Amino acid sequence: MSQYPHLFTPLDLGHVTLPNRVLMGSMHTNLEERGNWNAVAEFYAERARGGVALMVTGGMAPNAEGGVFPGAAGLFTPQDIANHRLITDRVHEAGGRIAMQILHAGRYAYGPDCVSASAIKSPISPFPPKELDEAGIEKQIADIATSAARAREAGYDGVEVMGSEGYFLNQFLVRHTNKREDRWGGSFENRMRLPVEVVRRVREAVGPDFIVIYRISLIDLIPDGSTWEEVVTLAKAIEAAGATILNTGIGWHEARVPTIATSVPRAAFTWLTGRLRPEVSIPVITSNRINNPATAESVLAEGCADMVSMARPFLADPDFVVKAREGRAAEIAPCIACNQACLDHTFQGKVSSCLVNPRAGHETEITITPTDAPKTIAVVGAGPAGLSAAITAAQRGHAVTVFDRGAEIGGQLTMARAIPGKEEFHGLTDWFATMVAKTGVTLKLNTEATVEALAGFDEIIIATGVLPRDPAIPNEGGQVVSYIDILKGRVTAGPRVAVIGAGGIGFDVAEFLTVSDSPTLDLEEWKREWGVGDPAATPGGLAEPQPEAPARTVTLLQRKREKLGRRLGKTTGWIHRAALQMKDVKMIGGVNYEKITTEGLHVTFGEARENPTLIQADTVVLCAGQLSDRTLADQLIAAGRSPHVIGGADVAAELDAKRAIDQGTRLAAAL
Ligand code: NAP
Ligand code: SF4
Repeated sequence: MSQYPHLFTPLDLGHVTLPNRVLMGSMHTNLEERGNWNAVAEFYAERARGGVALMVTGGMAPNAEGGVFPGAAGLFTPQDIANHRLITDRVHEAGGRIAMQILHAGRYAYGPDCVSASAIKSPISPFPPKELDEAGIEKQIADIATSAARAREAGYDGVEVMGSEGYFLNQFLVRHTNKREDRWGGSFENRMRLPVEVVRRVREAVGPDFIVIYRISLIDLIPDGSTWEEVVTLAKAIEAAGATILNTGIGWHEARVPTIATSVPRAAFTWLTGRLRPEVSIPVITSNRINNPATAESVLAEGCADMVSMARPFLADPDFVVKAREGRAAEIAPCIACNQACLDHTFQGKVSSCLVNPRAGHETEITITPTDAPKTIAVVGAGPAGLSAAITAAQRGHAVTVFDRGAEIGGQLTMARAIPGKEEFHGLTDWFATMVAKTGVTLKLNTEATVEALAGFDEIIIATGVLPRDPAIPNEGGQVVSYIDILKGRVTAGPRVAVIGAGGIGFDVAEFLTVSDSPTLDLEEWKREWGVGDPAATPGGLAEPQPEAPARTVTLLQRKREKLGRRLGKTTGWIHRAALQMKDVKMIGGVNYEKITTEGLHVTFGEARENPTLIQADTVVLCAGQLSDRTLADQLIAAGRSPHVIGGADVAAELDAKRAIDQGTRLAAAL
């Protein structure tokens, strides 16, 4: 019997039976907009081969005004339909099923033609929407229904109507954005008229034997959002209007509560799906921060949902389902919910990929094929760059030996996983360990690689990483330590700490120093911290945040005059800043570091070094960036070898695991 009996129970939808309970949730890949339809088709086909029961595409615009940005993809012309045929044919050949998401962005559409219930600008868009009149509303409904009919024509197995996350339909539902006084506003019956009418017309357009998923917002996490009673009323009306499945959404995009970031506890919102499930008779799907089969299984076993939606985990590993089915869960590359290569890329207009799996979105470009000329390869450094190179090379049939002077694998990841809220990094180092063993890589830990020891290898990959930069601030007796001492637990900081450097590591260290017990591991505590309440108690489910008192008094500093954290990830930087603000971390930019004494850190401001200020501190932690560790690389070059230098050893500036893994994988795919 399967280790995950609920996950692998088929689901009967009437006209079709799904083989398991896993849905790949909608993700915008940015591939469609590039016009490389072979690449789009391969992206989905690879995931269909991996055994997922049903996939939902990235959101397709029903019309120009509803697209998330001007020029967003949709089914507008016969050529569009033919392009999408490539996707559906390839998915069906691979034995999969796929539904197309219809996404009308309403006031979230990033363009001057956006429309909504009322002319109220969203805080995350510069464009005020136009208020639709009766004819305008009818046009939107007709366009969505036409889009659904065309999806059927293009060979899709269904559509998902996006009704959550604060998009168009959601905007009509709540008083926060709907101030209308006609039949589309006012009472809840009027406010829900649009989504219900959309589902009715979509069903009419596609016929009975077609999957219609409606994505319903369970907790808006904005002021004046839906009440629980309204959520239930809507769910019942959507079922009556002809939906096959209810998928659930959590939080509007403008909400100031994290909903999918790595610091959100796993399965944090499934309690809401569990509450909705008995109210309707169609299957209900749960989502958000479910990234492994064991969590998915327990959510189903607890009766919270009929199906589990995972999106980013399918970027990290297209074979998630087949590996779970075959009892190989440890081999599933884990999504660590970092957003770095997926959502952050989406917002930068880049192809969505994955930090853990650089092939995601690049399936036709990075191919890992068996080598016909096996070599002996030495990899020095067991951090993310070295391990990705080693595993990929070994998968291809090369004989790989990894050297590391440390006692464990993981490099900088071993420090990242010590940060409260970054516990998912444990999964990544565990996965590397599993794959090193599975692919037959020889691991030599506690071993200093020398030029002599590497002499016999055909290829040498140097992934020796980085050394912390010492900013050489004059010290007159203060306690000055590096972030490594703190995160490895070699030194315990005093009660007042100054952190020098506000890059990703400075922010992480400030979090580490101010948080005693990680709320990520305690759902109720996390909900209190961020003010996640119950939509049955307050509309939208917002409560007053009640953060725990900080464990230390921390000041975070940088020399640049810009806002601290401005260069952190687009979709996660605000969370790091908000988390530190909750811990009263003082953030100061534009400083000159003058000296450190037993009293603390002495700084001045501006080019004239004015306004001398003492930041009282028992401990000063240096997080001032890194320098490449190229010692061995230089020695090898001097000895006439030509090593491949990757990761931090190659370029230290702005290095992170995403670039390291990408570089390691691409190098090994080509060796
Ligand atoms: P970083 O992002 O380059 O930041 C270094 C910090 O040190 C900056 O605040 C810089 O600010 C300061 N600095 C640089 N030279 C200095 C000097 N000579 N004296 C004093 N201060 C100096 O490096 P990091 O924080 O060490 O992070 C390393 C990499 O890991 C980064 O690429 C980062 O993105 C990545 N990382 C990512 C995450 C994540 O969540 N995605 C988390 C941790 C780390 P000023 O020059 O303005 O003083
Ligand atoms: Fe998950 Fe990060 Fe990969 Fe996105 S980039 S899929 S969040 S691991």
